[in-house]
Amino acid sequence: MKYDYLIVGAGFFGATFARLMTDAGKKCLVIDSRPHIAGNAYSKKEHGIDIHVYGPHIFHTDNLQIWNFVNRFAEFNNFVLSPKVSTNGKMYSLPFNMNTFYEMWGLTKPSEVAEMMDSQKLKLDREPANLEEQALSLVGYDIYSLLIRDYTKKQWKKDPKELPASIIKRLPVRLTYDNNYFNDRYQGIPVDGYTAMFEKMLDGIDVHLNVNYFEDKNILDTLANKVVFTGKIDEFYDYEFGKLDYRTLEFNHETLQTDNYQGAAVVNYPDLSLPHTRIIEHKHFTKVKSDVTIITKEVPTEWTGNEVPYYPINDDKNTEIYNKYRDKSEKESNVIFGGRLAEYRYYDMHQVIGSAMKAAKIEQS
Ligand code: UDP
Repeated sequence: MKYDYLIVGAGFFGATFARLMTDAGKKCLVIDSRPHIAGNAYSKKEHGIDIHVYGPHIFHTDNLQIWNFVNRFAEFNNFVLSPKVSTNGKMYSLPFNMNTFYEMWGLTKPSEVAEMMDSQKLKLDREPANLEEQALSLVGYDIYSLLIRDYTKKQWKKDPKELPASIIKRLPVRLTYDNNYFNDRYQGIPVDGYTAMFEKMLDGIDVHLNVNYFEDKNILDTLANKVVFTGKIDEFYDYEFGKLDYRTLEFNHETLQTDNYQGAAVVNYPDLSLPHTRIIEHKHFTKVKSDVTIITKEVPTEWTGNEVPYYPINDDKNTEIYNKYRDKSEKESNVIFGGRLAEYRYYDMHQVIGSAMKAAKIEQS
């Protein structure tokens, strides 16, 4: 065998696993069906601005080991995500914090806000069963109906009552004037971009792009002792237990002849009358000075089965299907499954790295 591992997918799981196993003396071959490395974190430079081609990627983690790992390959700036919501002719702050509550109700004191929210909150004597119940019991009716309900509906193309509560638990609710979207201790953007970071992660490792694993599976499988698969788990098993649903979207990039379009890296648009959920203005991630700006409108689109799968949909129906694939995958001795698509989990970047570190540790034990 020429390689110890054939790694299918050059995103965070594949690149982390390849790096760690290469450092441990193993020989890895990384393939990807796309013409570039870095998976959905892929970024490219235009007019000196690094564009997050597949949507905004803000690195954040509480885990020092993961933070130290990524800092081996990139210098991170001190960017802190503070998105705004544009609706109702006004701008609101995210995550839900004292700034938002002031903008919403004109209240200035945490005790007043706690009282206001308490009067509106859904009170349950059981765990919230879906996203709507979770949101209503966290922040109450006003915030839910203005900032959450329609945004979620537009983004997932589902009623919040049909979505798992876990999705909204990602967002902090704070009674302090703190617009930092994340609670994590470490946060930032690689100053030279994610693609440059992945180039360093994959330094000295064989990488073949534009290679579709499924088209040449029989030959590719003979190249290595083990396969690390980071694609769709349902496709791996030829959809034998049915197709999993994914959320997909389009990214419409535009170059504008202005140096500052919206004054923030991320502005959300919950209104159902607009097709996009977010507008990203990339230059604000790294404070680039330039006469032009590049923005990206994120437009959720219908999933019919062939689009790019960006997000798993962890509702009951899909969880049941996924569990069958997972049970089958656990019986494999020569294939490791990892990442957002192979584990069918709504992972952030740092969580994918954590999962790959765990897999690499198991391999070395
Ligand atoms: N969310 C919302 N309103 C917002 C932003 C987020 O209701 O303005 C909810 C929504 O249900 C969404 C979830 O929070 O699916 C997570 O949003 P986030 O923007 O963190 O998701 P990402 O696409 O960045 O992973």
